[in-house]
Amino acid sequence: MKINADRLLNDLRQLRSFGATGSGVVRLALSPVDMQSRRWLAGRMTDAGLSAAIDGVGTVFGRSPQSGPALLIGSHTDTQPTGGWLDGALGVIYGIEIARALAESDETKHLAVDVASWMDEEGTFSSFLGSRSFVGEPVDDAIGSARDREGLLLRDALSRAGLEAVPRVRVDQTRHGAYMEPHIEQGGRLEAAGKSIGVVTTIVGIREVRLRFTGQRNHAGPRRCRFAATPERRWSLSSHGWTKPSGRSPTPIRSGQSAVSNSTPGRSASCLARPTCICSSGTRTHGV
Ligand SMILES: [Zn+2]
Repeated sequence: MKINADRLLNDLRQLRSFGATGSGVVRLALSPVDMQSRRWLAGRMTDAGLSAAIDGVGTVFGRSPQSGPALLIGSHTDTQPTGGWLDGALGVIYGIEIARALAESDETKHLAVDVASWMDEEGTFSSFLGSRSFVGEPVDDAIGSARDREGLLLRDALSRAGLEAVPRVRVDQTRHGAYMEPHIEQGGRLEAAGKSIGVVTTIVGIREVRLRFTGQRNHAGPRRCRFAATPERRWSLSSHGWTKPSGRSPTPIRSGQSAVSNSTPGRSASCLARPTCICSSGTRTHGV
């Protein structure tokens, strides 16, 4: 099978234009620009001969007209607050290009490739919303309670995007024989080894604990402090493998109240994270 590299790169660059910021991209899950990019993606899938739609949690899914078994190819097109332009996008556009290339050859046009861009893989509201919903994990609790950094409820964001009453796509066990997610390497091993591609056998997952301290707000000094959560005490868990979350800032030591040096806060919040291996068999860990 021969792909069209120019066509693939052109699609990647067009996708980048949605939320392009400096050398990266800002396309947070369910933001207006994310939804614009998803409508564009659905159009590209349709052009590739797939039956495409955005489902009830915002996943873009393109289904091949060929009968199965089908290879499902996908990744995410939402980004972290500032993401790399190829992160996630690569896997989705690869899927579309492979579907196109297969359809262009008499020898391969009978083969079925479905393509997905999952919703909120980067945890703007609730991590893995699209892929969890696809495999049948319960997501309604998260939809009713998860919020983004500005406090927007996930349910309201889905409603704003017009997805409230839209059906959710589900894995078809009789059709989907395998899933492939091409992804740009998150480390530098391939580059160091002089290789251009590799197969992932293990990936790091993050187990996260959010801590909330509640005490008596007061002025520092005259009274014994009823609430003394020192940084040393907070981070003592690091000796058991817990560390400050990598990749994003931990919640400030004092948040919400009395973020000054001469008083003690009545409330404080923090966050700890521990890297956890996820094996290639697909075992995942969620927050505890
Ligand atoms: Zn990614």
